[in-house]
Amino acid sequence: MKNKGKELKNIDLKKLSSMHVGGKAKRLFVPKNIEQLNNIIKYSKKTSKNCIILGNCSNIIFRDKVYRDVFVSMKGFDTIRVNGDIVSCGAGISLFTLCMFCEQHELTGLEPLYGIPGSVGGAIAMNAGAFGDEICNHIDEFVSLQDGEIKTKNKFDFAYRKGPLDSGEILIEAKFKLNKGKKEEIIKKQMQFLQKRKSLQPSLPSCGSVFMRGKDFSPAKLIDEWRLKGLTVGGAMISTKHAGFIVNANDATFEDVILLIQIVEWIAKSKGYEFEREIKII
Ligand SMILES: Cc1cc2nc3c(=O)[nH]c(=O)nc-3n(C[C@H](O)[C@H](O)[C@H](O)COP(=O)(O)OP(=O)(O)OC[C@H]3O[C@@H](n4cnc5c(N)ncnc54)[C@H](O)[C@@H]3O)c2cc1C
Repeated sequence: MKNKGKELKNIDLKKLSSMHVGGKAKRLFVPKNIEQLNNIIKYSKKTSKNCIILGNCSNIIFRDKVYRDVFVSMKGFDTIRVNGDIVSCGAGISLFTLCMFCEQHELTGLEPLYGIPGSVGGAIAMNAGAFGDEICNHIDEFVSLQDGEIKTKNKFDFAYRKGPLDSGEILIEAKFKLNKGKKEEIIKKQMQFLQKRKSLQPSLPSCGSVFMRGKDFSPAKLIDEWRLKGLTVGGAMISTKHAGFIVNANDATFEDVILLIQIVEWIAKSKGYEFEREIKII
């Protein structure tokens, strides 16, 4: 049997997801290198199972069921190093660790992302952003795996919440080009962004903004105007603090969350708006 790295069984997905909703995964692999990851992908193809790539699960909602798919946690890709003003890190590194590393090495640029609870892989896949900046603005180069082929890309397209990865492409490592800065100033900026984040966002479990910004409208602003804050289905609620967030206020199930999302979408449609989901439902 080919080496697929660590294998975990009957994983409680509720504990993995920042929304604290979901059933169980029969099998979860934690590869540490490309060879193991490739073996897992080959195995999933051979057994006709979906291969689901997980970062920190802060933008994913799982259904309340037992999944027989092959889950892959990228947490084993956890190297981080610096060379001048370039920081290279594995997909499994959290944005928090990356920002702390930059702070220690007096490299500035990523401060607006401080506090986003994602991994580097998930953040690049989603082109995560905050306060007018996006992670893809800072990528110098990235390494990915697609159909068994290792690719290195330094030219790529990205857009609002749409990263540079093609379908089925897995982010392995990214290099960020940063600027020399002063530690105290970097910490100050990080704290300012974190304070702003805390003042705007709820502390209850969530997956961040449920819907993407539209071309000429903000779903959160509209949901607020329509007085939907506090609307509840079972244990799921539209946050009273930030209308763009759905929170797990009281032991919500997947059905509670999805029904609440659908109600908002239905109301939006009845008012002439098409909301596009930012969160991924697995
Ligand atoms: C409290 C809170 C605040 C948030 N604030 C923000 C914010 O300010 N801005 C923002 O943009 N988002 C925000 N989010 C959403 C979320 O944190 C980001 O989208 C984050 O980047 C997702 O990263 P993740 O590692 O958790 O990805 P996951 O949720 O694990 O995965 C998201 C998607 O990326 C894919 N993926 C993960 N890793 C890889 C990989 N290595 N290769 C290929 N595909 C991969 C998954 O398959 C999935 O489709 C917030 C979420 C919460 C809970």
